[in-house]
Amino acid sequence: MPVTIGQTIGTDNRYQIVRKLGWGHFSTVWLCEDLTEGQTYYAIKIVKSANSFKTVALDEIKLLRCVKDQEPAAVGYNKIVLYHDYFVASSLYGEHLCLTFELMGPSLLHLIVQSNYQGLEQEGVKNIIQQILLGLLYLHDKCKIIHTDIKPENILISVKEPYIRNMVAHVNRFNELGVQMPKSYVNAAGWNEPELFEQTCDEASTSNVIYPQRVDPRMTSCPNKAFVNDFSKSIKIKQDNRPVSPLFVDPSIQVKIADLGNSCWENHHFAEVIQTLQYRALEVIIESEYSFPADIWSVACLAFELSTGDFLFNPQASEHLSCSEDHLGLIWELLNGIPPYIAHSGRRSSEYFTSSGTLKRISPENMKIWKVEDVLVDKYQWKRVDAILLADFIESLIEPDQDLRATASLALTKKWLDTIDRH
Ligand code: ADP
Ligand code: MG
Repeated sequence: MPVTIGQTIGTDNRYQIVRKLGWGHFSTVWLCEDLTEGQTYYAIKIVKSANSFKTVALDEIKLLRCVKDQEPAAVGYNKIVLYHDYFVASSLYGEHLCLTFELMGPSLLHLIVQSNYQGLEQEGVKNIIQQILLGLLYLHDKCKIIHTDIKPENILISVKEPYIRNMVAHVNRFNELGVQMPKSYVNAAGWNEPELFEQTCDEASTSNVIYPQRVDPRMTSCPNKAFVNDFSKSIKIKQDNRPVSPLFVDPSIQVKIADLGNSCWENHHFAEVIQTLQYRALEVIIESEYSFPADIWSVACLAFELSTGDFLFNPQASEHLSCSEDHLGLIWELLNGIPPYIAHSGRRSSEYFTSSGTLKRISPENMKIWKVEDVLVDKYQWKRVDAILLADFIESLIEPDQDLRATASLALTKKWLDTIDRH
């Protein structure tokens, strides 16, 4: 839908568009002021008009309604981005479902980029992972919903009043000066386009903000400068102006799970293959049955990525191997093998595994068993005591047998999380 800044949408023109916040496959998300209340802001997700998107959005609305109404007093309820309502808007292209949400800040991906891919300090990581597990506890146990797309881009940071005021003031300044707003605030183009990125860097260079040199292709939103400034202050900077040690994160940081656009019910799935590649569980790769444990696998990937700045698994297709084969090889190396009864449990198992349960196209001599603990010590120079704790947490969340894998409630009791410094 062609959206212009300042236009009003919704019943009785209730909402006024302030700026774009981000976009995804199905939608663009806009910062809007609620004119009936004044200075109250929401994030409105405007879904593309094609029928296929509408169908998906109607499913998302059913899931969101369940999350909203199931048990507001339950633990973890406030760890899912709050959905309010929806309305329909018409454009030249047809009808668009518009979903209103509580306004959130940037995603965890921004923290990873801000850390210059060095990761965050452990206290921050534990704090964030604990909140995600509480959100999943609610989704899984109370709502019987599998999120299916837990990844840094879908975990958003809560923002407070001054941040929102600053964001609105920042947009108003463009109007007052009569200068064009950055394209990333307006429409179509996004932050990951090189010329926009340079523009953002220019802006940043006048305010001591350290931006990474490379553009992360996963980036689909441009955060508020105030946010970036706050977090940049705590980055330790070396001579070349790039952070070299883990990013300090304010211990009072609050995060929530967003984007139920791909979610499904425990007993009603919408797709056979779920999850973004790097966060995809073993059972999904081999097309075995999947359920809540698939989300838990993704949490392990996220805990590692937040701690180190790198993917836990980053499979690549090559001349000799498909992406899934490479992925299974990486899992095998990290877990020191996959039990044959698990290897053989998927619809695609015979494509990847021999009858004795070894990988068909990767010979044992070409594999290097490298346990999480040793990866942290050897590759990231962690102290052994710290590596043992995180490795134990990660391994119980990527247990190949789903029935033995930690649940959200069990993961919350793991020793690694025990040592959270609560302020
Ligand atoms: P899609 O289903 O199309 O992927 P998402 O729900 O993931 O859409 O939203 C797309 C992007 O919009 C997100 O990555 C995020 O940057 C931004 N966004 C989504 N919801 C909010 C919100 N409540 N507050 C602020 N930004 C949001
Ligand atoms: Mg998304």
